Amino acid sequence: MANRREFLQTLIAAAAASSLPALAVSATGSNASRRLPWKNWSGCQLSHPTDRLAPATVAELQEQVRNARGTIRAVGSGHSFSPLVPTDDTLISLNRLSGVISHDDVRQQATIGAGTRLGQLGEPLEARNQALINMPDIDQQTLAGSLATATHGTGAGLQCLSASIAALTLVTAAGEQVECSQEHNPELFQAARVGLGALGIVTNVTLQNTRPYRLKRVSEWLPIEDILATAQDNADRYRNFEFFYLPFSGMGLQDTHELSAEPLSSTDQFDQNDGARDLQQVRDLLSWSPTLRRMVLKGILNSIERETKVAASWQNYTSARNVRFNEMEYHLPREDGLQALKEVRERLENHFPEVFFPLEVRFVKGDDIWLSPFYRRDTISIAVHRYFEEDYRPLFNAVEPILRQYGGRPHWGKLNTLTGPDFAALYPHWEDFKTVRRQLDPTGRFLNSYLRELFA
Ligand SMILES: Cc1cc2nc3c(=O)[nH]c(=O)nc-3n(C[C@H](O)[C@H](O)[C@H](O)COP(=O)(O)OP(=O)(O)OC[C@H]3O[C@@H](n4cnc5c(N)ncnc54)[C@H](O)[C@@H]3O)c2cc1C
Repeated sequence: MANRREFLQTLIAAAAASSLPALAVSATGSNASRRLPWKNWSGCQLSHPTDRLAPATVAELQEQVRNARGTIRAVGSGHSFSPLVPTDDTLISLNRLSGVISHDDVRQQATIGAGTRLGQLGEPLEARNQALINMPDIDQQTLAGSLATATHGTGAGLQCLSASIAALTLVTAAGEQVECSQEHNPELFQAARVGLGALGIVTNVTLQNTRPYRLKRVSEWLPIEDILATAQDNADRYRNFEFFYLPFSGMGLQDTHELSAEPLSSTDQFDQNDGARDLQQVRDLLSWSPTLRRMVLKGILNSIERETKVAASWQNYTSARNVRFNEMEYHLPREDGLQALKEVRERLENHFPEVFFPLEVRFVKGDDIWLSPFYRRDTISIAVHRYFEEDYRPLFNAVEPILRQYGGRPHWGKLNTLTGPDFAALYPHWEDFKTVRRQLDPTGRFLNSYLRELFA
């Protein structure tokens, strides 16, 4: 019989392999209904893994991969909306393989455990005189999870996070440890920088960082036509530039970041989560009158003061997202992005009065990674959101053809309806990726049903 310590260890390992609280862990059973469900952040993906593993060492991970039953999927913090993670067989979390392992001061590189959350990196990197070059708008994702889907921030001169990988190590389907970089196993490196968790389990990553820097962030609500008129120029002018458009309001939130040597400071911050609840209420009360809705929204948004915050980079990119939603995001050629946005906005405002979440628009510099949606093109990214309790499909289905018409490539971690042949047409190295994947995992141990269909 297991003693208390073993019981606790099992509980911790199971909780680490879950995005649910530790107390939700239940007994494993052969019947799916008796197994602890795994759900992603928004709740749109669900599975019932028979085994949830959280190895404490790479050797343990190798052993677990060798012995695992059925489909093996790695999970980060479950923040992807697309069905990359779900498996009813073996789910592996690297939460216990986290933290900065070593660093190289001259090259400004650091080797980091794959299960480290982005939000756990700021302080330890700063202590080593380093900082991430850019960050997304939340910091709850794990490093490996972010890299697997080409997670990005905003900045016309800045690439997605995967472009900062100098080297990585993964455990293959055979339980072997393989390292890769530009010089060593270059084909694998090309594939693994955005690998969808389809090549193996990444255990650590060496990132190219920069020296610590301070950012001044300015956020203000402005008429959307003013934001659009200067968007391309502002994208080139500011280190980071993005904006949100609030449907039915005529108003947008513009967000800029610049390098700063000013003293640390912050004006009152508008709580975005309270904001979402207000928007929902305005929708509920006023969607019958677009004119009144627009007036009320304008009134509310005009009353929000411009916010400024000067802080260390890693404290000034992200916000908490406590109001859950589902999301579709497409990456389009930069020159077409604003025209596509105009069409998306028209379709949304003409047909979906129930929507109250903003559209988000960001800029990302192109790269050379095989499965990066930014492959060889500077990009405008357009994201569409729906409150998590509402059916996202009618809106996303209506908007997706516009984004596709402009050659958009979907974010790997966000909802879309593309199939293998669609991706093959969008990615010149699709077949190369498939070849590397087949060599590493000929029987498809890391493929769940979604990936199996994509790579069939
Ligand atoms: C509120 C919210 C805000 C977001 N903001 C942004 C944003 O600003 N920019 C942006 O680009 N995206 C954003 N995303 C999307 C998110 O960054 C990606 O979906 C990211 O992949 C999630 O990371 P994760 O750690 O949760 O990984 P998961 O969603 O758990 O997994 C994602 C993929 O990584 C693989 N994986 C995880 N760990 C490993 C490993 N050790 N080895 C191999 N593969 C692994 C999984 O198998 C899966 O294929 C946001 C998502 C949410 C919910």
